[in-house]
Amino acid sequence: MAVRQVAILGSTGSIGVNTLDVIRAHPDRFKVVALTAAKQIERLAAQCLEFKPLIAVVADAQGASQLSRLLQAQQISTQVLYGPQALVTAVTESGCDTVMAAIVGAAGLVPTLAAAKAGKRVLLANKEALVMSGNLFMQAMKEGGGELLPIDSEHNAIFQCLPDRFTQSPADHLGVEELWLTASGGPFRDLPATSLATITPEQACAHPNWVMGRKISVDSATMMNKGLEVIEAFWLFGLPLDKIKVLIHPQSVVHSMVRYRDGSVLAQMGQPDMRTPIAYGLAWPERIDAGVGQLNLTQLASLSFSEPNLAQFPCLNLAFSAARAGGTAPTILNAANEVAVAAFLDSGLPYLQIAQVVEHALDTIAPIEANSLETILQADAQARAVASSFVHSISR
Ligand code: NAD
Ligand code: MG
Repeated sequence: MAVRQVAILGSTGSIGVNTLDVIRAHPDRFKVVALTAAKQIERLAAQCLEFKPLIAVVADAQGASQLSRLLQAQQISTQVLYGPQALVTAVTESGCDTVMAAIVGAAGLVPTLAAAKAGKRVLLANKEALVMSGNLFMQAMKEGGGELLPIDSEHNAIFQCLPDRFTQSPADHLGVEELWLTASGGPFRDLPATSLATITPEQACAHPNWVMGRKISVDSATMMNKGLEVIEAFWLFGLPLDKIKVLIHPQSVVHSMVRYRDGSVLAQMGQPDMRTPIAYGLAWPERIDAGVGQLNLTQLASLSFSEPNLAQFPCLNLAFSAARAGGTAPTILNAANEVAVAAFLDSGLPYLQIAQVVEHALDTIAPIEANSLETILQADAQARAVASSFVHSISR
């Protein structure tokens, strides 16, 4: 068995740490060759000490010199680099064959695209990268000739439930009619709309079933996360948007489903633990121990499913509109949402105004065809500028 050489973009985050947890249990299968983080230097240093990658990347020069000092003190010879271009170097120069794309947000796009072009096995957690660049990213995967394995639990579940020979081409849909993405509905599913105005970042980040980074936790509360996931599913699986459905399933046991022409519905179930999809992606097509406890069906009181209330979750509605508009609309949606969520988390933007910021950006900027990286990065920058000035005008 060849040992997989793994680069982890975003190794200090929730997905990154879970990935290292799976890898730690399988030293005969996986070798870590590159680790990257933005600012958590001490955590990254501890990871380097344990996994001894060839390359470690941080955001800036100050972080790099702090990391170098910490590693030299332990006689670790990892090469320390910094800045956005170094993330690409971690993918292209570390000798990796597998890249875990687990940076949060648009910052992950360029290195993830580099992994696609270089023909790596791409384990995609960074859904924002695909939402921003859709067609361009899928094209890069095709040209690179690597394997794209979804790590987002819903998409990983669908991937597991699709026929082996399924492809994006409708001729190869092999009886698949619909994809059903499940959503917990987040912590405020049952709150009356009047109570949402005073939601704090701490309340929004306390997800009932999953432990995740702060940005995706807020996205789960607003259900923008599910909206991004609908767009992600559209690009990954190539079904028309009206065949991609969202179901509220508060127990987070069924991670998603595929409905077939003959009346069958296949579901993937499990504990809400990201190590299951991560282990699946790392070892595919084999199955390895993920360190996840068994699902005990007899201890589950019930599994329930319902339609989402779009009036309660305007962000989900905005994502559907952006998906239908196409072109750079999803890029604009994503960028404005990143600005709004950061403002909610760090500078007191009221929770209910996250959706307003996104709506304002989508109303202000006309989408254009998303045919090059340059166009996409320009749309991203423009949407950030529009969203930021709207945030400032609200807070004044
Ligand atoms: P997180 O905030 O816990 O971790 C993010 C990682 O990215 C950290 O290592 C951080 O240092 C790095 N990073 C952040 N900004 C960066 C920048 N500008 N440049 C370089 N590195 C940067 O986030 P997470 O919860 O691990 O989520 C990561 C991605 O996976 C997101 O796209 C999220 O939507 C997706 N995802 C996460 C989960 C989950 O359970 N956490 C589930 C499904 C999908
Ligand atoms: Mg998900």
